[in-house]
Amino acid sequence: MEGIPLRTLDLVCLGTSVAFSGLFYYIYRKKKKTVDTLKEAPQMRLDEQLADILNAAPGKCLQYVVIEGTVQPAGETLRSQFQEGSLGVVQRLVLKEHKLVWNSLARAWTDSERILHQRINMVPFNLVGSGNAAVRVLCPLEASGLEMEIVHEKFHQASYGFTDIIGQYLSGEKPKGQLETEEMLKVGATLTGVGELILDSDRVLKLRPPADGSEYFLTTSDFHTMLVEEEGRATIWQVLASICALAGVAVLLWVARRYYRHLREKWAREELRRQFERMGPSRTAPQGELEDAESLENACVICLSNPRSCVLLECGHVCCCFSCFQSLPVPTCPICRQPIVRVVPLYQA
Ligand SMILES: [Zn+2]
Ligand SMILES: [Zn+2]
Repeated sequence: MEGIPLRTLDLVCLGTSVAFSGLFYYIYRKKKKTVDTLKEAPQMRLDEQLADILNAAPGKCLQYVVIEGTVQPAGETLRSQFQEGSLGVVQRLVLKEHKLVWNSLARAWTDSERILHQRINMVPFNLVGSGNAAVRVLCPLEASGLEMEIVHEKFHQASYGFTDIIGQYLSGEKPKGQLETEEMLKVGATLTGVGELILDSDRVLKLRPPADGSEYFLTTSDFHTMLVEEEGRATIWQVLASICALAGVAVLLWVARRYYRHLREKWAREELRRQFERMGPSRTAPQGELEDAESLENACVICLSNPRSCVLLECGHVCCCFSCFQSLPVPTCPICRQPIVRVVPLYQA
């Protein structure tokens, strides 16, 4: 459309809000789907009948089920490196560097952390239910929601001398220290798993990531808590998507408002020109030199040739012709410099 005042900034704002709301909506839809599938997933009891149920199932497989049991190692056990007597099946050792980095934009020191070293140890383990019923858990590291117990955490404070401090100001980095942590999925912990359950040829029950791409979960909280948390996450994405969409609408309304103002000003200018035109061509078009003294007295102070035809408001000066008024670089009265709010044609009877 002609004259739509879309500026680069508007386009950037509009593009960003559309892109983000699209992205957040996509994530929300994915989360919502996960929540819906979780709600439909049957909760299986881990007991001796489970093997028979699977034996009767097509392909000896249940695609997406919830199962709860106690963690027991299938062979050897992992020992905590720092806490005496702690036994587990998954162990994660992390060494993180913490430092302050000078942010020249914010003109402040900001926290920054970086993983220096990470090691994960794992041994095969089962979820054990009532009787001797057990399910082997496959690929636990592929699962979402596996928060392990922190069995050891120690912060090693950095120490430095005078020359180090000067070096820090020059480089813009102040080391704070290193954090050493050990997390463990302990033997005896209660674990809820959501995934594909199969009975393999050796009559061993196995829980594994679903083949259809649904999310695989392992969590130390119970199924209901997990469901509530997932629903909460989906809602956050939904809210973010709505906020971005609203921001996009706001930008559009802003542009529309500006376009409407622009149009209104254009209409007002045209209306004024028509009014002057109705008064006759002598008022708008330049005309030959005025000869007599009386006409000269009545001539526009800018072009000195056309008769004065505009009343400038609010000051009320009658000093110029319409074409000179239109070509004023700023809308101020040429005599008293007051801003011109409105202009009306001068009618001489
Ligand atoms: Zn003039
Ligand atoms: Zn004036």
